[in-house]
Amino acid sequence: MIKFDFICTNDEFKNDYMDIVRAFYPYVSAEEGADKLCLSLERKNEFEYVCEIDFKDKKAKESFCIDKRFLPSCDDEQYQIKYRAQIKRNSKVALYDFLSNLTGVKLPYGSLTGIRPTKLYHELIEKGINADEYFMNTLKVSEEKTSLVKDICSNQREFYGVGQDEIDLFVNIPICVSRCVYCSFISAQLDKVKKLVTPYTDLLVKEIELSKKLVKSLGLKIRSVYIGGGTPTSPDEKNFERVVRAAAVDCREYTVEAGRPDTINSEKLRIMADAGVTRISVNPQTFNQKTLDIIGRKHTVKDIYKVYDEARKYSFDINTDLIAMLPEEKFDDFKYSLDCALKLSPENITVHTLALKKGSTLKVEGYDNTSEDTANRMVDYARDTLCGGGYSPYYMYKQKYMSGNLENVGYCKSKKACIYNIDIMEEICGIMANGAGGISKRLFSKDRLERLANPKGIEIYLQREEKILKDKEEFFSLKC
Ligand code: SF4
Repeated sequence: MIKFDFICTNDEFKNDYMDIVRAFYPYVSAEEGADKLCLSLERKNEFEYVCEIDFKDKKAKESFCIDKRFLPSCDDEQYQIKYRAQIKRNSKVALYDFLSNLTGVKLPYGSLTGIRPTKLYHELIEKGINADEYFMNTLKVSEEKTSLVKDICSNQREFYGVGQDEIDLFVNIPICVSRCVYCSFISAQLDKVKKLVTPYTDLLVKEIELSKKLVKSLGLKIRSVYIGGGTPTSPDEKNFERVVRAAAVDCREYTVEAGRPDTINSEKLRIMADAGVTRISVNPQTFNQKTLDIIGRKHTVKDIYKVYDEARKYSFDINTDLIAMLPEEKFDDFKYSLDCALKLSPENITVHTLALKKGSTLKVEGYDNTSEDTANRMVDYARDTLCGGGYSPYYMYKQKYMSGNLENVGYCKSKKACIYNIDIMEEICGIMANGAGGISKRLFSKDRLERLANPKGIEIYLQREEKILKDKEEFFSLKC
């Protein structure tokens, strides 16, 4: 491993540069006190920059120009945002090239570390730029990942025509029955917040009612409803039913990310069916009991099958989540889980790659899953098998600290893509979010998206009722 103390003259992009450095782990590691690797960025004229990097006897100097095709026509705030995005992108490429030469390693996503590779690909196409060429030659993304992004974008095209008057409704229930070792969400454990479940439901229902009123008064239409978490099926049946009924509206898709099999029972399935839910998740993550025990899921493999069979009595589309690179799993363990999921034939299978996120038990305990070869084999196997089995990739996102710097990909059967997943990842539709940790989004134009975040924890959410409702009303009533 090559160690260096990373120094850059431009603090504005330091976190982004560090994403590139981290992507090269375990080949490099940034540590204070080691030899300095210095990156400096200098503006030569209005549109030209020079990025210089040096480490011991190695030096690199890259010039780049701002590509005017990415800039909006008028010189406003959006212009500055897009301008800076290019400086960042180009200097990240320079750093990527330097580290790639230093280590002799090429990363599947090259210099691309952002959450939404598909969003950029769509933008390139809209600007008439050859997206494949830009991904491979400029950003250094591998041919294989470029083709994955391309496939996903083409599968998303039919969902792109979102009307100005459409909006998604998101409802958050940040409660789980136990904590998974890889989780970093702000999700409360049910036994610790039992007393708050009813007051939380009271306020959540009130907020949903306000959202529906706003939708009506603003002349909007709800495109999809998504109840997520946490595990939204964690609360008792009575409170769960109140939320599911409150969120039921006339729309194209209604998802409850039920998730953990130990929180789903026949009564909750009936409640969802009666309220018009069209899509649910039954998330195994793995079909290996030993791994379920290690990751802190308090259910058995048998429970997964039992709940899945029970859910099949209704007409829900079902999604199942799997995670590649779970602790102690080898390629064959993941292959087994993927094959089991495929045999169940759900409408959607989402393949995540384990991310060692800050705050998760795995991260705190220093778990190190660095076998990028295994991670690659797993996600490649998933892609080949699912695409050969009648599924297509339809949405993706990347997270920080993912094994092998890979990605999460949602696969669907024909005509079974989840609209909400596409909307949230591509940011093509506004979102009216409800509940603790919910983030509302308003799309004022293609280039201007504004956010309003609710407080994250359940207790603070309950304490700020008046402000939350007032802020929401104001945010959605704002004129452009
Ligand atoms: S079910 Fe999801 S939200 Fe809940 S602890 Fe596990 S990973 Fe976190």
